Amino acid sequence: MRKSVVAIVGRPNVGKSTIFNRLVGERISIVEDIPGVTRDRIYAEGEWLTSTFNVIDTGGIEIGDEPLLVQMRHQAEVAIDEADVIIFLVNGKEGITAADEEVAKLLYKSNKPIVLGVNKIDNPEMRERIYEFYSLGFGEPFPISGAHGLGLGDMLDEVVGNFPKRETEVPDEDTVYFSLIGRPNVGKSSLVNALLNEDRVIVSEMEGTTRDAIDTHLHKDDQDFVIIDTAGMRKRGKVYESTEKYSVLRALKAIERSDVVLVLIDAESGIREQDKKIAGYAHEAGRAIIIVVNKWDTIESDEKAIRDFEEKVRAHFLFLDYAPIVFLSAKTKKRLHTLIPAIKMASENHSIRIATNVLNDVIMDAIAMNPTPTLKGKRLKVLYATQVAVKPPSFVVFVNDPELMHFSYQRFLENKIREAFGFVGTPIKIFARRRQ
Ligand code: GDP
Ligand code: GDP
Repeated sequence: MRKSVVAIVGRPNVGKSTIFNRLVGERISIVEDIPGVTRDRIYAEGEWLTSTFNVIDTGGIEIGDEPLLVQMRHQAEVAIDEADVIIFLVNGKEGITAADEEVAKLLYKSNKPIVLGVNKIDNPEMRERIYEFYSLGFGEPFPISGAHGLGLGDMLDEVVGNFPKRETEVPDEDTVYFSLIGRPNVGKSSLVNALLNEDRVIVSEMEGTTRDAIDTHLHKDDQDFVIIDTAGMRKRGKVYESTEKYSVLRALKAIERSDVVLVLIDAESGIREQDKKIAGYAHEAGRAIIIVVNKWDTIESDEKAIRDFEEKVRAHFLFLDYAPIVFLSAKTKKRLHTLIPAIKMASENHSIRIATNVLNDVIMDAIAMNPTPTLKGKRLKVLYATQVAVKPPSFVVFVNDPELMHFSYQRFLENKIREAFGFVGTPIKIFARRRQ
């Protein structure tokens, strides 16, 4: 199900990033081996009471050296286009400025719910400063302090209360949802078109929940698929669409609703740092992943070329060792027929359930082969393992003391599970839990 999206807008220095970090907190996880994934993130999951939602810090979207006013206009546009509810942030210490009024003017034009947060109200004596902000015309101003974490609850109650109702949006379990991500010009829209123009494909378009998100349904090989709209696939010609941050934001939105993510790479221009970053997001989200090397028509193609390119991909995407690589050309449709079967397989593996007895046979065989490690004279004892979730397959291994589960041993068990059950195309997760 698509989560509601909250955007934080306001002129520079009112505290947008501070509030963003408060809302998303430790949820921004640290993934050491993926360069740059978690740094400068502007889109992440937040939580309040029983609601989880996604938050955009529009302050992170900067377009070249454009003047402040132009930047703010773009940020407001992003918020209006992408968010369900907008937090308009102002600075209670400074009062209303001309720049606040500019932002307000842009927001008047949107028909999205707007919640006015007056930040930097660090103590109760400052509360009376909120009254002047009524004149902005967005109703009750909420006094908050991002620095001290004050007042956020009341403001979030208002935000959550304005989320659209969407009971009808339960995804169909039998349908495989996939998206295409990759930097601009890798061929995302060309590949979608190539898939849709193939014979025997039945296509229908349905209005998504926001006016710009349109899911495409297709039926092929006895399977229903939905292609989730991503940046670049439906270009609307807005200036901010070319910025890296915005394309990452759209990619994250699409990844979130996907079972399978196709990470596109351009064979012609090669692998870039940005490709790794984008792939890192899909990996972090626990989605099934297929690496698609597009524009294969531009390469003198033989078995050796494929092997060489595959080696390069593996060296660059060490964290995606489970992802199959598909070489194709959206332009000539060469090898295009290999894509749908790969998506189907990755999706099946992503939602596989392994019976507990079968799983334990594999684990016990593994332990017999490679004895458990010891730490300070104490040996790790594995009692049993069980699968606790799908999408991705997640396993809990019950042990005498989780501290004794060394990373390398966990990796060994993961490899044994993979050897036994395949899981091509999907990450798997293993957790050690204490049980006496
Ligand atoms: P942004 O440009 O809107 O993203 O603003 P930042 O989050 O970077 O904050 C700008 C400055 O305001 C930083 O120096 C913050 O430490 C400070 N700041 C943020 N929130 C508060 C607050 O609640 N009280 C006070 N006194 N300072 C704050
Ligand atoms: P997007 O920005 O990722 O959606 O990329 P597009 O689908 O707009 O493609 C960018 C450019 O690459 C266009 O000029 C396409 O014609 C070209 N292109 C896409 N796929 C292929 C391919 O398989 N081979 C070649 N040679 N060019 C391609």
